[in-house]
Amino acid sequence: MMFGRIITFTIILLTETGMFCGAALATTLPPVKEYIELNHPLHENMTTYPGLSEVELYTRLERGKNGAIIDGIKLLGISGTYIDAPFHADPHGKKISDYDLRQLVNLPVVIVRLPPGEKIFFSSAFQGKNVAGKAVLLMTGRDRLFGTEAYSDNPPYLSAEGAKWLAKNHAALVGIDSVLIDNYNDASSIPAHDILLKNNVVVAEDMTNIGSLMGKNAYLTAVPPRVPMASFPARIFAAVY
Ligand SMILES: [Zn+2]
Repeated sequence: MMFGRIITFTIILLTETGMFCGAALATTLPPVKEYIELNHPLHENMTTYPGLSEVELYTRLERGKNGAIIDGIKLLGISGTYIDAPFHADPHGKKISDYDLRQLVNLPVVIVRLPPGEKIFFSSAFQGKNVAGKAVLLMTGRDRLFGTEAYSDNPPYLSAEGAKWLAKNHAALVGIDSVLIDNYNDASSIPAHDILLKNNVVVAEDMTNIGSLMGKNAYLTAVPPRVPMASFPARIFAAVY
């Protein structure tokens, strides 16, 4: 009796979606409800990291008789919203172009809010969460100040101890909506970068709009061009199923 009900349900599901020919495909490729941008658009003279944010757009070939324009851009890898590769912290580490797409595409999202009144993410903020293979998004709310001087004024960050917990528990990617995942006020070391990147965890910084994913079944994609660099902007977004 119970078996019969299950079969009926499966047939109705396939009829309603009307686009798949097999039950396995229907369950692995559900329709996307919405796409949500998690990146800041790039534009000329924008400021991301104070003093290190060059973005220059230019026209290489003006429109000719055929109507086509060829334009270009000069920028630093840490402009706008971007990801870091291990090469950023380790001269022998792999570069942006070496990332496997499996590290960057369709990662289940886990959101971690900065505890009220605190400035640092410690492992206590992650305890009990399953982060294995997931994109862990550290939500500080700082993105609302992006492009202003206040954005880099005493910003929140991830502690070395918190980074160790995330690496040990096999997070795939760790992103933050702030200017730096390490302590901006102490440039003498970057322990969160060191720990995450050396453990093959992708680092994403200067993200935005993380709060829009709250309560949603979201999967993150963060794919830059295949450049042999330490960091590069990516159109980071989430698909919501
Ligand atoms: Zn970084």
